[in-house]
Amino acid sequence: MSNKNTKSDTTEKIVSLSKRRGFIFQSSEIYGGLNGCYDYGPLGVELLRNIKESWWREMTYRENVEGIDSSILMHPRVWEASGHVEHFSDPMVDCKECKGRFRADQLDESDCGNKGFKGRKAVKCFEEGKFTEARNFNLMFKTHIGPLEESSSAVYLRPETAQGIYVNFNNVRESSRQKIPFGIAQIGKAFRNEINTKNFLFRTREFEQMEMQFFVNPEEDSKWFDYWKEQRYNWFINYGMDKDKIKFHEHEKLAHYAKAAVDIEFEFPFGWGEIEGIHNRTDFDLKRHTEFSGKKIEYFDDQTKERFTPFVIETSAGASRSFFAFLCNAYDEEEIKKENSDGSVSSETRTVLRFHPSLAPVKAGIFPLVNRDGMQDIAHSITDDLRKTFNVFYDDSGAVGRRYRRQDECGTPFCITVDSETLTDNSVTVRHRDSMEQERIQKDRLKEYLKSKTD
Ligand code: ATP
Repeated sequence: MSNKNTKSDTTEKIVSLSKRRGFIFQSSEIYGGLNGCYDYGPLGVELLRNIKESWWREMTYRENVEGIDSSILMHPRVWEASGHVEHFSDPMVDCKECKGRFRADQLDESDCGNKGFKGRKAVKCFEEGKFTEARNFNLMFKTHIGPLEESSSAVYLRPETAQGIYVNFNNVRESSRQKIPFGIAQIGKAFRNEINTKNFLFRTREFEQMEMQFFVNPEEDSKWFDYWKEQRYNWFINYGMDKDKIKFHEHEKLAHYAKAAVDIEFEFPFGWGEIEGIHNRTDFDLKRHTEFSGKKIEYFDDQTKERFTPFVIETSAGASRSFFAFLCNAYDEEEIKKENSDGSVSSETRTVLRFHPSLAPVKAGIFPLVNRDGMQDIAHSITDDLRKTFNVFYDDSGAVGRRYRRQDECGTPFCITVDSETLTDNSVTVRHRDSMEQERIQKDRLKEYLKSKTD
């Protein structure tokens, strides 16, 4: 990045650009918003879909991974078996002075709401004894099936998509005739009643996950853990993550069922944060579901004649958190030279989202240089043709330089301009977002050109 903003400036600029250009809106904004919930606008939904689509293609277009889409509401026993009813809680404390509510294990990250101490970290108030004792708060949202709100009808909004995969292990294996090692993947919404939501899309109460559970012979668990760790890191890099902004974080303290755990972290403007976890969950989940449901979830290897409960290697990424990471990674500001109408040269700041072309919400902007000589008709016909395959945007308002800037802010990798040369030789200019260089291309080659650059 070439910008010289402070870190909090950058977050504010990204939040404001997100609203201005239609990436992210606050949920129920006209009613004052709903904390921890966001809506994806026209550009945001395209970016999110492209992220999910690239993940889906990468993870399920393989011989040994199947996709599913399980329901959000599940049998309540699922969450007893998984340990969520008993353990899925965070320690919560209240500040007696400002009445703020915090996660006790994240005080150094939270700002205390105490008016006299704006910007002060909550950990300071804790040290001064202003907090209540910590209480455990279960993060699952509870609701009821049917008209009666009794305990027997209680169900939960799933806090992760993984359990929908474990309970379908037998169904998927039998219907797809997969042999171990194989995986099951799904993308879907998850809900957590987080005590503190903060940092924009980083910690929200409703979000999407992209999870894949890979079932292996227990003797091969380490090999597959290493394999998926590398695959997942490479996926982020291949879609344009800056190598300096992404790293592994090994867990020193493991969950009681886990044998190994590593996070992929991204450097957000407010600091490093997890975007994906890769875990060796052993046979914990399948054994617990066997125990709680009374149905055997095992695997029989016809070759070795061995019967065993597979180990699970999990790759668990947040689609919404990855979205935010890709947005931060793409955000850039640079000083460029600007030619004024009187011939003089000055400089201006260009804001540009340098998305990987496959992720970019709009693939090309199409402009007539001027609105005469039939240039608009040609630009419209190029737009109609490309729109059958790509999300493209027609724009004929204002100077071409302004139109480029607007597309730069949306992260559009190519701008196609119809000019007077088009009228004589059917060529158009294609301007590249990152280098701002231009080349001439025959207009009937545009589809093939964009396909090769954005696939
Ligand atoms: P954290 O420690 O940040 O709460 P976690 O370790 O509880 O995360 P997991 O349960 O491993 O997270 O969930 C897998 C992924 O789901 C995370 O890497 C993250 O990308 C995403 N995720 C989890 N909680 C949230 C949330 N509240 N908002 C947005 N994304 C989330």
